[in-house]
Amino acid sequence: MGLPGCAKTLLSKNLGTVPNMSSKNFQMRTSRVSNMRSIFSLFSSDLAIDLGTANTLVYAHGKGIIVNEPSIIAVNRVTGEVEAVGKEAKEMLGRTPGNIIAIKPMKDGVIADFKQTEKMLNYFIQKASEVHLVEQAMVAAIGAGLPITEPGGNMVVDIGGGTTDIAVISLAGIVYSRSVRMAGNQMDEAVATYLKRKYNLLVGERTAEQIKIEIGSAFPLDKPLTMEIKGRNLIEGVPKTITVEDSEIREALGECIATIMNAIRVALERTPPELSADISDRGIVLTGGGALIKNLDKRIREETGLPVSIADDPLASVVLGTGKMLSDFRLLRKISID
Ligand code: ADP
Ligand code: MG
Repeated sequence: MGLPGCAKTLLSKNLGTVPNMSSKNFQMRTSRVSNMRSIFSLFSSDLAIDLGTANTLVYAHGKGIIVNEPSIIAVNRVTGEVEAVGKEAKEMLGRTPGNIIAIKPMKDGVIADFKQTEKMLNYFIQKASEVHLVEQAMVAAIGAGLPITEPGGNMVVDIGGGTTDIAVISLAGIVYSRSVRMAGNQMDEAVATYLKRKYNLLVGERTAEQIKIEIGSAFPLDKPLTMEIKGRNLIEGVPKTITVEDSEIREALGECIATIMNAIRVALERTPPELSADISDRGIVLTGGGALIKNLDKRIREETGLPVSIADDPLASVVLGTGKMLSDFRLLRKISID
């Protein structure tokens, strides 16, 4: 749909009876950004939804996180029926039979396929109501426990599946924000490309992701790591197992990490001096799954000289933040885009 700027998060508040959503309606309203109520039909409790490129999390008021699944849907090509959603659909990635396709309806932090996104959300949440659109970095900051309503700068770097969102927040407002299309997915691709170039080894995207998660790093490790990788040799066309070292995967991720480092540097340069001083005290907080890349915090610390911390539960910061906002209507009003 192409909403500008950083990735956005949907937050639904129970408002009472509202009409059923149709996909046209959804598109129209979502693209209008403002007045985003009544997207879904009636729901019995308030929900916060983090619709991420890689993962979708749903938080229910008073219940906590009730859905935490990959943003993937498997659809039957012939009947159009949904075969599987979330974890089950992810299992199918790369191994679907001809008539089933696994779709990732979110790309680069925005909704790329409305129909499938709607179907996926329907599966995850069935019904909801009033929807607010909030800046993702802001809720990530709240979820990470940053005092965003106080005068003082906070820098959040949210490294997700499709985008890295960097924001400087003060007094519940965004002072600076930038979204770069460099995050987890691009790292997975970089790992796959590296193995293809160096070893003529073809690996699927799930394997590439596992390698990144297990031995990927942004700065030399104290203890070297190795991993056995199964793939298909491109020349011989047969399955093959090789062993790779952490240093190789660090090299593979080099450009991706450099792009993120550069975006952080630019953000620091563009931050007003008063807030810079705050950030040098409070440091930078990392959220999103990409925050878990080994020694990424260390790398940022080394290069910027600033304190860097990782949110307690980086994959859940956004949904936890939206959850907090559900119980704080004043805060929600303050920071919602409409
Ligand atoms: P989004 O909000 O865009 O859905 P997430 O914040 O859920 O993204 O993060 C998903 C990304 O984080 C994926 O690319 C995934 O591979 C990556 N990720 C998850 N865990 C780890 C880890 N331990 N180390 C490195 N990357 C990770
Ligand atoms: Mg996210």
